[in-house]
Amino acid sequence: MSTPPYSVRVSARAKRLQLKVLPPGRVEVVVPKHVSLKHVPLFVAEHSHWLRRQLARMTAVCAAGPLLPDVIRLPAVAEQWQVAYCQASRGRVVRSDEWRLQVGAAGERQACRLLQQWLQQRARQLLPPWLAQLSRELGLDFNRVTVRAQKSRWGSCSAQKNINLNRALLFVSPGTARYLMIHELCHTVHLNHSWRYWALVESFLPRYRDHEAELRQAMQAIPRWALPGFYE
Ligand SMILES: [Zn+2]
Repeated sequence: MSTPPYSVRVSARAKRLQLKVLPPGRVEVVVPKHVSLKHVPLFVAEHSHWLRRQLARMTAVCAAGPLLPDVIRLPAVAEQWQVAYCQASRGRVVRSDEWRLQVGAAGERQACRLLQQWLQQRARQLLPPWLAQLSRELGLDFNRVTVRAQKSRWGSCSAQKNINLNRALLFVSPGTARYLMIHELCHTVHLNHSWRYWALVESFLPRYRDHEAELRQAMQAIPRWALPGFYE
């Protein structure tokens, strides 16, 4: 069996020979500075079986459209993050500089999970303070706020005035994310969609219908990696 084509990278930090399968289906061999390049072909040949399996998986995933993002755009909060990936046995996401994330993972599945965790954390940092600020602005009190990953709802409000926000709100426009929060805050007054309820919404946001229309379309626009249950 022939070995797949690969590129070689000499690293001062690497401690041992390493194989990496990178999207969309590229093989890289990392060679520690103290290891001679003449060991590389045998090393690759010894792992060719494993490599072919990994390559097949990587190409299959990439053929289905880009899964792991190089850039994460969060329009609601005007943030854009560059994402880089590396092979690591212990998965983690490191914020390597202002708008850069370094994802270390053993594979696509783990990288995807890590990004979801990161998204959840970011949504928890950003959405509740925004809701609290709107609540003060509008004079509509709520009790507690939770941020969740949901497949079919953007938010909800309970009779106890507990508001739940979908973390995917980060992917919609700022005006529409704001509308959804106003929508839920108005439910603290009317726990229904009566004309009184909509009149209250309209008093804060006369063009609320445009945002309602955007929200109906926006579920389809959530990137695949960010969908709850994806890759489980
Ligand atoms: Zn509602």
